[in-house]
Amino acid sequence: MFNTRVKVKELLATTPQNQEVTVMGWVRTFRNNQFIAINDGSTNNNLQVVVELGAYDDQLLKKITTGASLKVTGQLIASLGKGQSVEVKASTVEVLGECNPEKYPLQLKNRPSLEYLREIAHLRFRTNTFGAVFRIRHSLAFAIHQFFNEKGFVYLHTPVITASDAEGAGEMFKVTTLPFDNPPRKEDGAIDFSEDFFGRATNLTVSGQLEGELGAMAFSEIYTFGPTFRAENSNTARHLAEFWMIEPEMAFYDLEDNMNLAESFIRYLIDYVMKHNREDLEFLAQRLAEEEKQKPVAERSELGLIEKLEFVLNNQFERITYTEAIDILLQSPAYKKKKFQYEVKWGIDMQSEHERYLVEKHFKKPVIVTGYPKDIKAFYMRQNEDGKTVAAMDILVPGIGEIVGGSQREERLELLEQRMEELHIPAKEMWWYLDTRRFGSVPHAGFGLGFERMMLFVTGMTNIRDVIAFPRAPKSAEF
Ligand code: ATP
Ligand code: MN
Repeated sequence: MFNTRVKVKELLATTPQNQEVTVMGWVRTFRNNQFIAINDGSTNNNLQVVVELGAYDDQLLKKITTGASLKVTGQLIASLGKGQSVEVKASTVEVLGECNPEKYPLQLKNRPSLEYLREIAHLRFRTNTFGAVFRIRHSLAFAIHQFFNEKGFVYLHTPVITASDAEGAGEMFKVTTLPFDNPPRKEDGAIDFSEDFFGRATNLTVSGQLEGELGAMAFSEIYTFGPTFRAENSNTARHLAEFWMIEPEMAFYDLEDNMNLAESFIRYLIDYVMKHNREDLEFLAQRLAEEEKQKPVAERSELGLIEKLEFVLNNQFERITYTEAIDILLQSPAYKKKKFQYEVKWGIDMQSEHERYLVEKHFKKPVIVTGYPKDIKAFYMRQNEDGKTVAAMDILVPGIGEIVGGSQREERLELLEQRMEELHIPAKEMWWYLDTRRFGSVPHAGFGLGFERMMLFVTGMTNIRDVIAFPRAPKSAEF
C-alpha cells in the first residue's frame, strides 16, 4: 500500500515532532552521499532527506541518482541545516525506479534551455520552471470553472468535430476516413464526401461559439472550455495549432456588458492565482527577472511579473475605439520614424506590432478596442449604425497583444442574412444557427479567451509552446 505517504508540500508545512513519515518522489540532487533533495511535484520546494553516513550499503547509495524514484521512511525533524525548516532522517530508503545518470537528459547542473526542454517535453515537468507553469495552469483552469459557476453559467460541451466551416476564424484540419490514395469522386472529379464517415465534409472545430450561442438562447449564460484547432501555418510564439479556449456566450448582454464581464473575469483569474500559487509565481518572477537582465535596457519591461499582475488587478483597462487606435498609431513617434513593418491606415487588421505599441508604449496597460471595421471581422458581429463598423471588442495586453476576441452578436435576422450573402456563407447549411434569430431572438454577446495566451500573461513565459504540456504546431507533434 502506497497511500500512507505524505506529499512534500504537506510535510514542509508540518511541525516536526520526530513523527514517522513516508515520502515518495524523484531525486533532484544527492550531495555528499548524505543529503537527498526529493521532489514529488506537489511544490517547487524539495524535501531534504538525510541518510546517515555509513548506515547504508554502497550498492544502494549508488542507485540514488538524479531522476531516480524513492520511497523513504523516517522521522520528520527540525532541520539542522540552513534553507529548510524540516527534514526527514531516513530509517529506510527504497529505490523504486533507477535512473541511469549517463543517459538521463535532465542533469540539473547547467540550467537547460527552454528550447532543449521542448525536445524532452515528456520529462520537462520535472524542472522547477515547468513544475510552476503547470501547477498554475491547473489552478487557472480550476478558477475558470469556479468563476462561471459562481455566476450561474452553464458549462456547455460543444463538439470537437464540426461540419460548419463558415466561421472563418482560421484554416481547418479535415476529419475524414476516406482513403487518401483513391477517394470516391463525383462525376465532376470532386471528392464525394457523401461516402465519408459523416456523409459530409467535416473538420476540427476552430471555435465553439456558434454552438455556444444555441446554448445561450436557452440557459441565458453558458461557457465552453475546450480544445480548438487551427491549421494556420503561423510559426509564432503566440500561435498553436491546438489550443484551449474559454468562450462564454450570454443572452441579454450588449457590448458593454460583454467588456465588463471579460475584464472582471481576467481580474478574477489573476487574483486567484496570486492567492493560490504565490510560491510558483515568485519563482517565475525571479526567473523572468534574470531573463530580462540579459536584454538591452531599452527592451526590458518596467514591471516585474508580480507587479504587473498587481497593476492589472488595481487598474481599469483602457477602452478605446478602433478609429481612435488608428489615430494614436498614426500620431505615434514609431509611425513617424517608420518603425512599423506593416502599413497603418483605417481598415487594416492591426498587426501584433501595432497592438503592442498601444498597450506597451502608449497606454502601458491592458486596452479594450471596440468598433472594428466590419470587413475584417466575422459575419456574426452586430453591425453598428455607421454601416462601416461592428460591435466587436478585442482585449490587448502587454507582452502578448490580443488575448480576447469578442463581440455583440447580430440578433436581427435580415441583417445577419444579408451579411452572410455578402460574404458567400451558405445560409442553407446554417439553418440551425439562423433559427436562433427566428425563434425568440435576443440581444446577446460573447467572447473567446485563449487559455494559453492567458497562461503566457500570468506566468511571464514568452513562448506559447512552454505553457501547454504537449504543443502542436507546424512540423511539431511529438509526444
Ligand atoms: P490572432 O490575431 O492573434 O491570430 P485571432 O484574431 O485569430 O487571433 P480569435 O479568432 O478572435 O483570434 O480567437 C480568440 C482568441 O483565441 C484570441 O484572442 C487568442 O487569445 C486565442 N487564439 C487565437 N488563435 C490562437 C492560436 N493559433 N493559438 C493560441 N491561441 C489563439
Ligand atoms: Mn489568428
